[in-house]
Amino acid sequence: MNRVALYAGSFDPLTNGHVDIIESAGALCDELVVAIGTHPGKTPMFSAAERAALIETISGGLATAPAYKLSVRTFCGLAVEAAREAGASLILRGLRDGSDLDDEMRMAAMNAAMAPEIKTVFLAASPAVRHISATLVRQIAGLGGDVSAFVPAAVAQALAKRRPPR
Ligand code: ADP
Repeated sequence: MNRVALYAGSFDPLTNGHVDIIESAGALCDELVVAIGTHPGKTPMFSAAERAALIETISGGLATAPAYKLSVRTFCGLAVEAAREAGASLILRGLRDGSDLDDEMRMAAMNAAMAPEIKTVFLAASPAVRHISATLVRQIAGLGGDVSAFVPAAVAQALAKRRPPR
């Protein structure tokens, strides 16, 4: 059986925390679809196409070459619909702490009500990356801080190009 999992999120931008989940996903699926959610009315730092290109760039340089098939796509709308379209039976989400847990449990329950055939699976963040959030990365980068410890090199370079001149 070819088990397909959907890892949905904003990935604005991709962080080392997201990479940790992508690398861990091999234990759970044969095929991982990283699905970039877009929301009308929400202005991201990086366009969906830019986020997809960054994820594709790093996917060649993962610490362990994935034993599963990895693809990237964008979606607008419900994650459960994106999962159905991708033929995924699992939605993967990462858990950093208790505040993630509360939000994620609510989302998982709503998704289960809408699509009982799709199961949400939580992956615990590795201790080395569990403090990393894309929101904080954007804020630090916007203030001229060094984010190279929190994101892949290609993402740090893309953020540096966005930095307004001092
Ligand atoms: P969203 O805006 O939907 O939360 P994100 O891009 O912020 O999208 O996150 C996508 C998923 O990755 C979520 O399940 C989130 O909990 C998880 N995630 C984010 N940062 C980390 C991290 N440092 N470690 C593990 N999981 C993470």
